[in-house]
Amino acid sequence: MDKIIEVTGLKKAYGSVQAVRGLDFYVERGKLFAFLGPNGAGKSTTIDILCTILKPDGGEVLVDGHRLGHEDAGIRSAIGVVFQDHLLDPLLSVEENIRTRAGLYHMAGKQLNDAVKHAAAAADVTEFMRRPYGKLSGGQKRRADIARALINTPQVLFLDEPTTGLDPQTRKSVWESIRTLQQTTGLTVFLTTHYMEEAAEADYVIVIDHGDIAARGTPTELKASYASDQLRLAASNDHALRALLEDRGLAYTCAAGSVVVKISDTMDALEILALVKGHIKGFEVLSGTMDDAFIGITGREIRE
Ligand code: ADP
Repeated sequence: MDKIIEVTGLKKAYGSVQAVRGLDFYVERGKLFAFLGPNGAGKSTTIDILCTILKPDGGEVLVDGHRLGHEDAGIRSAIGVVFQDHLLDPLLSVEENIRTRAGLYHMAGKQLNDAVKHAAAAADVTEFMRRPYGKLSGGQKRRADIARALINTPQVLFLDEPTTGLDPQTRKSVWESIRTLQQTTGLTVFLTTHYMEEAAEADYVIVIDHGDIAARGTPTELKASYASDQLRLAASNDHALRALLEDRGLAYTCAAGSVVVKISDTMDALEILALVKGHIKGFEVLSGTMDDAFIGITGREIRE
């Protein structure tokens, strides 16, 4: 397996606040990696360290073979970063912003022109390259931010909540561009997000809480371990239905007019349905979601 990022024993404290308490993880090359956690979990601290912006107190970090603290320039040339705040110049056009950034990498002539064209196409900003950044819509700004971060053809793209603050439709289209970019170019994407439906599409997820890893796995694995499926029963005879469930020792809750039984496996619904079919007028089996898994892992909603 090709590990593009390897983190061992990473630690960082701000005074008495232990923001990151000895993280161990890796990211596989070419994957969409989601780094999740409630507010204050230590996500930004970790990302700032990986991007060479913040010095850790301890631990080892390798990014694309470059050792943090020894080869930071190598790391910076291997990564592209899009933080939450828009950092482009509002008066300059998208193209001028991208070209200014390219100057930092000492690009010129044909190499520069090709890189600008390539980054613009990859982030889908070609149509509004001449427009001032300040005049763009939220979704267009995000794409321009991404185009600028791609100018040095990075190996890893860090995206800190790339779709926060966008309306649902724009969020979906920016998200689709990120997915396409990752899948067609083999770029590794290291992402934080508050949207569990986005995290559910990641190749691998790490959830951190209180500066430590609380869970890790593919979305399917996390849902299977931390989010149970539900059998929702619409009673025809509420009293008899509950009495039967109680008699069989099946725990239930009542929600929105339904009687809800948690099941560990979808197929378990069949046995329960056979038992209660005389007392129900309908049913629904709901699969556990990434939202459920997140709450199961951290005990909190991600937006709290
Ligand atoms: P997240 O990005 O997951 O919201 P952060 O990495 O920003 O979490 O914060 C982790 C912890 O470190 C929090 O308790 C936060 O209050 C604290 N913290 C973050 N930055 C600083 C700082 N510059 N000075 C003091 N405490 C900080």
